[in-house]
Amino acid sequence: MIFEIDKNYLIQTTQDMVRINSTNPSLSLTGAGEAEIGAYVAERMGELGLEVSVDEFAPKRMNVIGVLKGTGGGRSLLLNAHLDTVGVEGMTIDPFGGKLRGGRLYGRGAQDMKASLAAMLAAGKALVDANISLKGDLLLTAVADEEFGSLGTEKLVKEFHADAAIVTEPTDMQLCRAHRGFIWFEVETFGRAAHGSRYTEGIDANMRMGRFLAELDQLEQNLLKREAHELAGPPSLHAALLQGGTEISTYAEHCTLKIERRTIPGETVSGVTAELQAIIDRLAEQDSTFRATLKPAFWREPFEISSKAAIARAVESALANRLGRPPIHSGQTFWTDAALISEAGMQTVLLGPVGKGLHSAEEWVELGSVIDLAYVLTETAIQFCG
Ligand SMILES: [Zn+2]
Repeated sequence: MIFEIDKNYLIQTTQDMVRINSTNPSLSLTGAGEAEIGAYVAERMGELGLEVSVDEFAPKRMNVIGVLKGTGGGRSLLLNAHLDTVGVEGMTIDPFGGKLRGGRLYGRGAQDMKASLAAMLAAGKALVDANISLKGDLLLTAVADEEFGSLGTEKLVKEFHADAAIVTEPTDMQLCRAHRGFIWFEVETFGRAAHGSRYTEGIDANMRMGRFLAELDQLEQNLLKREAHELAGPPSLHAALLQGGTEISTYAEHCTLKIERRTIPGETVSGVTAELQAIIDRLAEQDSTFRATLKPAFWREPFEISSKAAIARAVESALANRLGRPPIHSGQTFWTDAALISEAGMQTVLLGPVGKGLHSAEEWVELGSVIDLAYVLTETAIQFCG
């Protein structure tokens, strides 16, 4: 089917959105939130004739969903982008300038991920302009809070469902099929408080944590030597926060440690917990004064999709058409909302534009790749939704 991407619309929409401050208010008290940009997106969706739902689920926090209804009997596809950005402190360019230079568009959120959201809207517009009616529904979803707690996508997946999804986070136009998850653990060692002179009474919780840390250091090195996931890399961990003792002349009664363990597809919370618990059990066996507890406090699952999944094949073929070569399949070391969408039973891949400077002083997106993205999203919707 023949369609065209309206390039002026795509660039203008990206620029408009970069010029709207949507910094995440959970990251900084001065964060603007998603209400203003959400209203802008709802208006663009309304112009296209989509069924628009605006969900201001907390002050300044907003999800906006636009559905291009299918004629029935086809598979549905959900496209996802987040509306929020990280903060702008320390930026060396105008964060809300949206300046165009050398085929790039500059500003906070240019690549992460307002250009992607504009490409989703441009894909919807291409279908509408060309009078193409899909059999399955196409859902354009713009969500809040990806940069902090993923409140937006958590809410989205309870209310909307599709057969497959594309998360348009920046991937440099590679087909991202896997990423790691993480688990935050709390470890506490217990001692006995005593006057610093009373070595027969005091039990030092900090020293005991030291024994645990020495073993953890070994484990950390071993994890990196383990067989890495082919796309997402090896598992890893770090001892992020450590606190123990109350004053210089008292034996430390408690020591707490917070560990971040990054997981790869196939690893489970229970399996990783058991591995850490085994260290504690071994140390307790060696010394009856060693007492410690371990608990997983918060986690996000890793994500993976087979290259044979229908959505992966549809994106791969559309991407190959557009790029004129087979696309690169990749993985990421960090976590994304794709895991939540995938857990909710939608087959999910990630695909987004080329650029640089995510979360840094100078962020830009390459406009050629944003146009490519809009073509690929449109083509995939036609192939997948029928
Ligand atoms: Zn992002």
